[in-house]
Amino acid sequence: MKSAFIYTDTYLDYDYGPNHPLKIIRLKLTYELIYTYGLLALPYVQTKITRRAEEEDLAIFHSREYLKILKEASEGHLGGYAYSYGLGPGDNPIFPGLYNWSLLVAGATLQAVEFVGKGEGEIAFNIAGGLHHAMSSRASGFCYVNDPVIGILKLLDQGKRVAYIDIDAHHADGVQRAFYQTDQVLTVSLHETGYTLFPGSGFEYEIGEGEGEGYAVNLPFPPNTDDEVYVWAFEEIVPPLIYAFRPDVVVTQLGVDTFYNDPLTNLHLSIFGFEKVIRRIKELAPRWVALGGGGYDVSNVARAWTLAWALMNGIEMDDELPKTYLEKAERVGVHEKTLRGCPKLTPDSQKKEIRKEAERIVKYIKSKVFPKIGA
Ligand SMILES: [Zn+2]
Repeated sequence: MKSAFIYTDTYLDYDYGPNHPLKIIRLKLTYELIYTYGLLALPYVQTKITRRAEEEDLAIFHSREYLKILKEASEGHLGGYAYSYGLGPGDNPIFPGLYNWSLLVAGATLQAVEFVGKGEGEIAFNIAGGLHHAMSSRASGFCYVNDPVIGILKLLDQGKRVAYIDIDAHHADGVQRAFYQTDQVLTVSLHETGYTLFPGSGFEYEIGEGEGEGYAVNLPFPPNTDDEVYVWAFEEIVPPLIYAFRPDVVVTQLGVDTFYNDPLTNLHLSIFGFEKVIRRIKELAPRWVALGGGGYDVSNVARAWTLAWALMNGIEMDDELPKTYLEKAERVGVHEKTLRGCPKLTPDSQKKEIRKEAERIVKYIKSKVFPKIGA
Protein backbone atom coordinates (compact mmCIF):
# COMPACT_ATOMS: atom_id res chain seq x y z
CA MET A 1 0.00 0.00 0.00
CA LYS A 2 1.11 3.58 -0.70
CA SER A 3 -0.38 6.76 0.66
CA ALA A 4 0.11 10.52 0.34
CA PHE A 5 -0.41 13.33 2.81
CA ILE A 6 -0.77 16.76 1.25
CA TYR A 7 0.14 19.82 3.26
CA THR A 8 1.92 23.18 3.34
CA ASP A 9 2.55 25.73 6.08
CA THR A 10 1.55 28.37 3.51
CA TYR A 11 -2.04 27.75 4.64
CA LEU A 12 -1.18 29.87 7.67
CA ASP A 13 -0.71 32.95 5.46
CA TYR A 14 -4.49 33.17 5.24
CA ASP A 15 -7.00 34.10 7.89
CA TYR A 16 -10.81 34.25 7.84
CA GLY A 17 -10.62 36.85 10.63
CA PRO A 18 -10.41 36.88 14.43
CA ASN A 19 -14.11 36.22 15.03
CA HIS A 20 -14.59 33.59 12.37
CA PRO A 21 -15.05 30.00 13.62
CA LEU A 22 -12.86 28.47 10.89
CA LYS A 23 -9.34 28.62 12.33
CA ILE A 24 -6.63 27.69 9.88
CA ILE A 25 -4.29 26.88 12.78
CA ARG A 26 -6.25 23.59 13.09
CA LEU A 27 -4.46 22.39 9.94
CA LYS A 28 -1.04 23.17 11.37
CA LEU A 29 -1.93 21.47 14.64
CA THR A 30 -3.11 18.37 12.78
CA TYR A 31 0.11 18.28 10.77
CA GLU A 32 2.16 18.70 13.97
CA LEU A 33 0.43 15.80 15.70
CA ILE A 34 0.69 13.51 12.69
CA TYR A 35 4.35 14.43 12.24
CA THR A 36 5.18 14.07 15.93
CA TYR A 37 3.70 10.58 16.05
CA GLY A 38 6.01 9.62 13.18
CA LEU A 39 3.09 8.97 10.87
CA LEU A 40 4.77 10.72 7.95
CA ALA A 41 7.97 8.70 8.34
CA LEU A 42 6.42 5.37 7.39
CA PRO A 43 8.16 3.79 4.38
CA TYR A 44 5.05 3.76 2.20
CA VAL A 45 3.99 7.35 2.99
CA GLN A 46 4.75 10.33 0.77
CA THR A 47 4.35 13.88 2.00
CA LYS A 48 3.46 16.20 -0.83
CA ILE A 49 3.75 19.95 -0.53
CA THR A 50 0.52 21.55 -1.66
CA ARG A 51 0.70 23.32 -4.99
CA ARG A 52 -1.91 25.73 -6.24
CA ALA A 53 -4.53 24.68 -8.72
CA GLU A 54 -4.76 26.59 -12.02
CA GLU A 55 -7.71 28.79 -12.79
CA GLU A 56 -8.58 26.32 -15.56
CA ASP A 57 -9.05 23.62 -12.93
CA LEU A 58 -11.54 25.70 -10.97
CA ALA A 59 -13.36 26.55 -14.19
CA ILE A 60 -14.36 22.93 -14.72
CA PHE A 61 -17.03 23.64 -12.11
CA HIS A 62 -17.13 27.37 -11.29
CA SER A 63 -18.33 30.08 -13.67
CA ARG A 64 -15.71 32.46 -15.13
CA GLU A 65 -17.78 35.36 -13.90
CA TYR A 66 -17.64 34.10 -10.30
CA LEU A 67 -13.89 33.41 -10.49
CA LYS A 68 -13.33 36.97 -11.72
CA ILE A 69 -15.31 38.33 -8.75
CA LEU A 70 -13.35 36.10 -6.34
CA LYS A 71 -10.05 37.39 -7.73
CA GLU A 72 -11.17 41.01 -7.49
CA ALA A 73 -12.42 40.50 -3.94
CA SER A 74 -9.18 38.81 -3.01
CA GLU A 75 -7.23 41.86 -4.20
CA GLY A 76 -9.49 44.27 -2.37
CA HIS A 77 -11.31 45.65 -5.44
CA LEU A 78 -14.91 45.18 -4.80
CA GLY A 79 -18.36 46.64 -5.19
CA GLY A 80 -21.65 46.00 -3.44
CA TYR A 81 -22.43 43.26 -5.97
CA ALA A 82 -20.14 40.91 -3.98
CA TYR A 83 -23.12 40.07 -1.77
CA SER A 84 -24.93 38.49 -4.68
CA TYR A 85 -22.04 36.01 -4.91
CA GLY A 86 -22.24 35.16 -1.23
CA LEU A 87 -19.21 37.29 -0.29
CA GLY A 88 -19.02 39.78 2.54
CA PRO A 89 -19.00 40.10 6.32
CA GLY A 90 -20.29 36.91 7.98
CA ASP A 91 -19.80 33.34 6.79
CA ASN A 92 -17.69 34.10 3.72
CA PRO A 93 -15.59 37.12 4.58
CA ILE A 94 -13.43 38.88 2.04
CA PHE A 95 -9.87 38.50 3.31
CA PRO A 96 -6.60 39.26 1.51
CA GLY A 97 -5.53 36.38 -0.71
CA LEU A 98 -8.76 34.41 -0.44
CA TYR A 99 -8.40 33.50 -4.12
CA ASN A 100 -4.94 32.03 -3.55
CA TRP A 101 -6.25 30.22 -0.47
CA SER A 102 -8.91 28.66 -2.67
CA LEU A 103 -6.32 27.70 -5.29
CA LEU A 104 -4.29 25.96 -2.58
CA VAL A 105 -7.25 24.02 -1.18
CA ALA A 106 -8.35 22.89 -4.63
CA GLY A 107 -4.75 22.21 -5.65
CA ALA A 108 -4.25 19.83 -2.74
CA THR A 109 -7.41 17.95 -3.67
CA LEU A 110 -6.19 17.69 -7.26
CA GLN A 111 -2.87 16.29 -6.03
CA ALA A 112 -4.77 13.70 -3.99
CA VAL A 113 -6.92 12.83 -7.01
CA GLU A 114 -3.89 12.56 -9.26
CA PHE A 115 -2.06 10.28 -6.81
CA VAL A 116 -5.00 7.96 -6.35
CA GLY A 117 -6.55 8.28 -9.83
CA LYS A 118 -3.32 7.46 -11.66
CA GLY A 119 -2.64 4.52 -9.41
CA GLU A 120 0.49 5.90 -7.71
CA GLY A 121 -1.09 4.82 -4.45
CA GLU A 122 -4.36 3.85 -2.81
CA ILE A 123 -5.01 6.64 -0.30
CA ALA A 124 -4.41 10.38 -0.19
CA PHE A 125 -5.49 12.88 2.46
CA ASN A 126 -5.99 16.63 1.96
CA ILE A 127 -6.88 17.97 5.38
CA ALA A 128 -7.52 21.47 3.98
CA GLY A 129 -10.18 20.24 1.57
CA GLY A 130 -13.80 19.22 1.82
CA LEU A 131 -15.30 22.68 1.21
CA HIS A 132 -18.61 21.14 0.22
CA HIS A 133 -21.00 24.12 0.27
CA ALA A 134 -19.57 26.28 -2.54
CA MET A 135 -21.87 26.55 -5.55
CA SER A 136 -20.77 27.15 -9.14
CA SER A 137 -21.32 30.91 -8.84
CA ARG A 138 -21.64 31.49 -5.15
CA ALA A 139 -19.61 31.23 -1.94
CA SER A 140 -21.45 29.54 0.92
CA GLY A 141 -20.81 28.17 4.41
CA PHE A 142 -17.09 29.18 4.64
CA CYS A 143 -16.48 27.66 1.19
CA TYR A 144 -15.40 29.73 -1.84
CA VAL A 145 -14.42 26.92 -4.15
CA ASN A 146 -15.88 23.41 -4.10
CA ASP A 147 -12.80 21.19 -4.12
CA PRO A 148 -14.74 17.91 -3.71
CA VAL A 149 -16.73 18.62 -6.89
CA ILE A 150 -13.59 19.64 -8.82
CA GLY A 151 -11.80 16.50 -7.66
CA ILE A 152 -14.71 14.23 -8.55
CA LEU A 153 -15.03 15.83 -12.01
CA LYS A 154 -11.34 15.07 -12.64
CA LEU A 155 -11.84 11.46 -11.60
CA LEU A 156 -14.84 11.18 -13.94
CA ASP A 157 -12.61 12.53 -16.73
CA GLN A 158 -10.27 9.61 -16.08
CA GLY A 159 -13.24 7.26 -16.51
CA LYS A 160 -13.50 6.46 -12.80
CA ARG A 161 -16.69 5.53 -11.02
CA VAL A 162 -16.93 7.65 -7.87
CA ALA A 163 -18.82 7.35 -4.61
CA TYR A 164 -18.76 10.37 -2.30
CA ILE A 165 -19.36 9.91 1.44
CA ASP A 166 -19.72 13.04 3.56
CA ILE A 167 -19.82 12.74 7.37
CA ASP A 168 -19.66 16.46 8.17
CA ALA A 169 -22.41 17.77 10.48
CA HIS A 170 -23.69 19.94 7.63
CA HIS A 171 -25.43 18.67 4.51
CA ALA A 172 -23.14 18.40 1.47
CA ASP A 173 -25.44 20.61 -0.57
CA GLY A 174 -22.90 21.86 -3.14
CA VAL A 175 -21.69 18.37 -4.01
CA GLN A 176 -25.21 16.95 -4.09
CA ARG A 177 -26.38 19.68 -6.45
CA ALA A 178 -23.45 19.18 -8.84
CA PHE A 179 -24.28 15.50 -9.34
CA TYR A 180 -28.02 15.45 -8.66
CA GLN A 181 -28.95 14.41 -12.20
CA THR A 182 -26.32 11.80 -12.93
CA ASP A 183 -25.91 8.12 -12.08
CA GLN A 184 -22.11 8.40 -12.55
CA VAL A 185 -21.55 9.63 -9.00
CA LEU A 186 -23.20 8.31 -5.85
CA THR A 187 -23.36 11.00 -3.17
CA VAL A 188 -24.13 10.02 0.42
CA SER A 189 -24.37 12.72 3.09
CA LEU A 190 -24.86 12.02 6.81
CA HIS A 191 -25.59 15.18 8.78
CA GLU A 192 -27.64 17.01 11.35
CA THR A 193 -31.16 17.61 10.07
CA GLY A 194 -31.78 20.74 8.02
CA TYR A 195 -34.58 21.63 10.43
CA THR A 196 -31.98 22.70 12.99
CA LEU A 197 -28.79 23.38 11.02
CA PHE A 198 -27.38 25.21 8.00
CA PRO A 199 -27.85 24.82 5.04
CA GLY A 200 -31.41 23.66 5.77
CA SER A 201 -31.41 20.90 3.16
CA GLY A 202 -30.45 17.21 2.90
CA PHE A 203 -33.78 15.60 3.74
CA GLU A 204 -34.22 11.90 3.10
CA TYR A 205 -36.61 12.53 0.23
CA GLU A 206 -33.87 14.32 -1.76
CA ILE A 207 -32.77 11.27 -3.77
CA GLY A 208 -31.68 12.69 -7.15
CA GLU A 209 -33.50 13.45 -10.37
CA GLY A 210 -33.83 11.90 -13.83
CA GLU A 211 -30.91 9.53 -14.43
CA GLY A 212 -29.63 10.50 -11.00
CA GLU A 213 -32.70 9.24 -9.16
CA GLY A 214 -31.46 7.01 -6.36
CA TYR A 215 -27.88 8.30 -6.64
CA ALA A 216 -28.20 11.04 -4.03
CA VAL A 217 -28.65 9.73 -0.51
CA ASN A 218 -29.30 11.76 2.63
CA LEU A 219 -29.26 10.61 6.22
CA PRO A 220 -30.38 13.50 8.41
CA PHE A 221 -30.06 13.03 12.18
CA PRO A 222 -31.89 14.86 14.98
CA PRO A 223 -29.88 17.04 17.41
CA ASN A 224 -28.18 15.04 20.20
CA THR A 225 -27.68 11.95 18.05
CA ASP A 226 -24.73 10.06 19.60
CA ASP A 227 -22.15 7.52 18.40
CA GLU A 228 -24.41 4.54 18.94
CA VAL A 229 -27.33 5.64 16.77
CA TYR A 230 -25.08 7.26 14.16
CA VAL A 231 -22.83 4.24 13.67
CA TRP A 232 -25.86 1.94 13.55
CA ALA A 233 -27.46 4.02 10.77
CA PHE A 234 -24.15 4.29 8.89
CA GLU A 235 -23.82 0.50 8.94
CA GLU A 236 -27.39 -0.01 7.72
CA ILE A 237 -27.05 2.33 4.76
CA VAL A 238 -23.52 3.00 3.57
CA PRO A 239 -21.94 -0.47 3.10
CA PRO A 240 -24.87 -1.91 1.08
CA LEU A 241 -24.85 1.15 -1.18
CA ILE A 242 -21.11 0.94 -1.78
CA TYR A 243 -21.25 -2.81 -2.48
CA ALA A 244 -24.05 -2.24 -5.00
CA PHE A 245 -22.50 0.81 -6.69
CA ARG A 246 -18.98 -0.66 -6.88
CA PRO A 247 -16.95 2.56 -7.15
CA ASP A 248 -13.36 2.69 -8.39
CA VAL A 249 -12.65 5.52 -5.98
CA VAL A 250 -14.33 6.66 -2.78
CA VAL A 251 -14.04 10.38 -2.01
CA THR A 252 -14.84 11.29 1.59
CA GLN A 253 -15.40 14.55 3.42
CA LEU A 254 -14.39 13.90 7.02
CA GLY A 255 -15.81 16.90 8.90
CA VAL A 256 -15.59 16.54 12.67
CA ASP A 257 -18.12 19.23 13.58
CA THR A 258 -20.39 16.32 14.55
CA PHE A 259 -18.65 16.07 17.95
CA TYR A 260 -20.57 16.86 21.13
CA ASN A 261 -18.35 19.81 22.02
CA ASP A 262 -18.32 21.45 18.62
CA PRO A 263 -19.42 25.06 19.08
CA LEU A 264 -21.51 25.32 15.89
CA THR A 265 -23.64 22.19 15.79
CA ASN A 266 -25.90 19.97 17.89
CA LEU A 267 -24.88 16.39 17.23
CA HIS A 268 -23.37 14.34 20.05
CA LEU A 269 -20.69 12.21 18.47
CA SER A 270 -17.23 11.57 19.87
CA ILE A 271 -13.98 10.39 18.40
CA PHE A 272 -15.03 6.81 19.23
CA GLY A 273 -17.91 6.87 16.75
CA PHE A 274 -15.71 8.67 14.22
CA GLU A 275 -13.07 5.94 14.56
CA LYS A 276 -15.61 3.20 13.82
CA VAL A 277 -16.78 4.98 10.70
CA ILE A 278 -13.22 5.53 9.45
CA ARG A 279 -12.40 1.85 9.95
CA ARG A 280 -15.46 0.91 7.91
CA ILE A 281 -14.64 3.32 5.09
CA LYS A 282 -11.15 1.80 4.93
CA GLU A 283 -12.71 -1.63 4.37
CA LEU A 284 -15.16 -0.32 1.78
CA ALA A 285 -12.95 1.93 -0.36
CA PRO A 286 -10.88 0.25 -3.09
CA ARG A 287 -9.10 3.62 -3.45
CA TRP A 288 -9.65 6.59 -1.21
CA VAL A 289 -9.38 10.35 -1.64
CA ALA A 290 -9.90 11.72 1.88
CA LEU A 291 -10.70 15.39 2.41
CA GLY A 292 -11.02 17.40 5.61
CA GLY A 293 -14.11 19.47 6.31
CA GLY A 294 -15.76 21.23 9.22
CA GLY A 295 -14.55 21.11 12.80
CA TYR A 296 -14.54 24.21 14.98
CA ASP A 297 -12.84 22.82 18.05
CA VAL A 298 -9.20 22.76 16.96
CA SER A 299 -8.23 20.01 19.36
CA ASN A 300 -10.95 17.70 18.00
CA VAL A 301 -9.73 18.35 14.48
CA ALA A 302 -6.08 17.57 15.20
CA ARG A 303 -6.78 14.42 17.21
CA ALA A 304 -9.52 12.99 14.97
CA TRP A 305 -7.72 13.54 11.67
CA THR A 306 -4.50 12.17 13.12
CA LEU A 307 -6.36 9.05 14.18
CA ALA A 308 -7.95 8.87 10.72
CA TRP A 309 -4.55 9.16 9.02
CA ALA A 310 -3.16 6.41 11.26
CA LEU A 311 -6.07 4.10 10.39
CA MET A 312 -5.71 4.87 6.69
CA ASN A 313 -2.16 3.58 7.02
CA GLY A 314 -3.06 0.53 9.06
CA ILE A 315 -1.49 1.87 12.25
CA GLU A 316 -3.22 1.20 15.57
CA MET A 317 -2.92 4.11 18.00
CA ASP A 318 -2.91 4.02 21.76
CA ASP A 319 -4.26 6.98 23.66
CA GLU A 320 -1.11 8.72 24.81
CA LEU A 321 -0.33 12.08 23.17
CA PRO A 322 3.34 12.90 22.50
CA LYS A 323 4.87 15.31 25.01
CA THR A 324 6.29 17.68 22.40
CA TYR A 325 2.84 17.99 20.85
CA LEU A 326 1.24 18.71 24.23
CA GLU A 327 3.64 21.60 24.73
CA LYS A 328 2.87 23.10 21.32
CA ALA A 329 -0.86 22.53 21.76
CA GLU A 330 -0.86 24.25 25.15
CA ARG A 331 0.49 27.37 23.47
CA VAL A 332 -2.62 27.59 21.25
CA GLY A 333 -4.96 26.87 24.14
CA VAL A 334 -5.50 23.13 23.62
CA HIS A 335 -5.50 21.09 26.80
CA GLU A 336 -6.56 17.55 25.89
CA LYS A 337 -4.28 14.94 27.38
CA THR A 338 -5.33 11.86 25.40
CA LEU A 339 -5.85 11.11 21.72
CA ARG A 340 -9.46 10.04 22.03
CA GLY A 341 -10.80 11.99 24.99
CA CYS A 342 -14.05 10.73 26.53
CA PRO A 343 -17.02 9.17 24.79
CA LYS A 344 -20.34 10.87 25.33
CA LEU A 345 -23.63 9.02 25.15
CA THR A 346 -27.00 10.71 25.06
CA PRO A 347 -29.24 9.84 28.03
CA ASP A 348 -31.66 6.97 27.32
CA SER A 349 -34.67 9.17 27.94
CA GLN A 350 -33.76 11.37 24.94
CA LYS A 351 -32.39 8.57 22.88
CA LYS A 352 -35.65 6.71 22.34
CA GLU A 353 -37.06 9.46 20.13
CA ILE A 354 -33.77 9.90 18.30
CA ARG A 355 -33.50 6.21 17.57
CA LYS A 356 -37.10 6.08 16.35
CA GLU A 357 -36.43 8.91 13.92
CA ALA A 358 -33.19 7.31 12.69
CA GLU A 359 -35.05 4.01 12.17
CA ARG A 360 -37.73 5.80 10.17
CA ILE A 361 -35.14 7.40 7.90
CA VAL A 362 -33.17 4.19 7.41
CA LYS A 363 -36.40 2.42 6.45
CA TYR A 364 -37.26 5.20 4.00
CA ILE A 365 -33.88 5.00 2.28
CA LYS A 366 -34.05 1.21 2.08
CA SER A 367 -37.45 1.37 0.43
CA LYS A 368 -36.89 4.31 -1.95
CA VAL A 369 -33.19 4.26 -2.80
CA PHE A 370 -31.92 0.69 -2.43
CA PRO A 371 -34.12 -0.73 -5.24
CA LYS A 372 -32.94 1.99 -7.64
CA ILE A 373 -29.29 1.06 -7.37
CA GLY A 374 -29.76 -2.62 -6.66
CA ALA A 375 -28.61 -2.61 -3.03
ZN1 LIG B 1 -19.79 21.35 8.74
